[in-house]
Amino acid sequence: MRRQDPVFLTDWTKDLPTVVRGEGIYLFAEDGTKYIDAASGVKVASLGHGVKEIVDAMAAQAQRLAFAYTGAFQNLPQIELGKRLVRFAPAGFVKAYFTSGGSEAVEVAIKLARQYQLAKDRPSRYKVVSRWNSYHGATLGAMSLTGQPRRRQDYLPLLIDFPHILPVYCYRCPLGKSYPACAVACAHDLERTIRLEGEASISGFIAEPVLGSSGNGLSGPPEYFPILRDTCDRFDILLIADEVITGVGRTGRNFAIEHWGVTPDLIVTGKGLSGGYSPLGAVLIHQRVWEVLEREHREGMFLGYTYSGNPVACATGVAALDYIERHDLVGRAAARGDQLGRRLQSLAGRATVGEIRGKGLLWGIEFVADKVTRAPFRPPGAFANAVAREALRRGLYLNVGSSDSVDGAYGDNIGLAPPLVTSAEEIDLIIEILGDAIAAAEATMLHRQREGLTHAPA
Ligand code: PLP
Repeated sequence: MRRQDPVFLTDWTKDLPTVVRGEGIYLFAEDGTKYIDAASGVKVASLGHGVKEIVDAMAAQAQRLAFAYTGAFQNLPQIELGKRLVRFAPAGFVKAYFTSGGSEAVEVAIKLARQYQLAKDRPSRYKVVSRWNSYHGATLGAMSLTGQPRRRQDYLPLLIDFPHILPVYCYRCPLGKSYPACAVACAHDLERTIRLEGEASISGFIAEPVLGSSGNGLSGPPEYFPILRDTCDRFDILLIADEVITGVGRTGRNFAIEHWGVTPDLIVTGKGLSGGYSPLGAVLIHQRVWEVLEREHREGMFLGYTYSGNPVACATGVAALDYIERHDLVGRAAARGDQLGRRLQSLAGRATVGEIRGKGLLWGIEFVADKVTRAPFRPPGAFANAVAREALRRGLYLNVGSSDSVDGAYGDNIGLAPPLVTSAEEIDLIIEILGDAIAAAEATMLHRQREGLTHAPA
């Protein structure tokens, strides 16, 4: 993609390689360059590229029925995907609402939390609490939840006044404590925030079990989600698991919240649900919420997406779930994820590697300018981008995390989330190239460090 092409690239300062084909974990550019897609795009292409049976299922559905408005007609792929997805989810989920992606699904979750409170005759409740250091999407409701200061900044006047609690971030505890002596105080910040805001205004709480772009691989200790669940129960607000990245096998469980043994009220998912073959997201509704909605909203409610339950998108989701189950991709994500985690540890000794963290096939590395003080790099994001650039030059594509993840101002992290079909040998290859890329970025940085340009305040 060149700058002069008539396409609005949101970062128009870059010329991006144009890819023309994908196969397995590889992408091929028009100039013949081959890239390992070690980020599955942005944690999307879980099944790998070019899976014929998914494409065949899509084509067959497009031929039978490509579109029928779901406000007027039910369609078979939507029914089938609903059945399959509630079976795939933790026990107790009974309904699925389909969207064209994660942000749309987050908007639906915000509305369902509101509808739940309306059904309980609490019309003052509308705020969904979220966390700093989170990412929930780019539409205005989802961005209001998002806790990335830099991405929010330009749009602040347009955002809803949703409160944010402290992030879970043991490597840089925002309270200066250490686990387990901290008693997971960051999770108790939900109760404090609800009280400060006034519980009469709160409808729900949303969190990602493991972070994507806002702090690749970060997650909480075993007590974290049980404490949040308990708080949500005591205030009768909905616990919403944002599993747009972590859902459908990515972390070695069907849904990542299962690592904490907690059942949320709503699960938002997308990305790996279709493996990127079709735009698709979903909100799963637990029985205890559905009962209330069904009883009190006798005439239904407005959500309104034209493409909700699109037959081709849903047929893609069914084919993707078939593929995931038949090839035990959730088990493979767990096994390959263990290997990836172990192999990443071989990079822990490098001068710039601050923390390595993740679950299943969702890992991140946080880079620091000084491993003792944990001082981040300056300018923010430059080092992570240098690593990604060096990796791409060597045929390895990675995600660069947000450059404000440390404290709203600084942060250098990268994300690794290869397709769930990645082989053991391919994991080794990814680590080998990544090690070279970090070494090359460090060599460049050393030069700048001598000029005192790379340390942010500790
Ligand atoms: N929620 C999370 C946790 C995400 O990571 C994302 C996207 O990266 C979204 C929501 C938004 O999804 P989409 O980009 O499909 O709208």
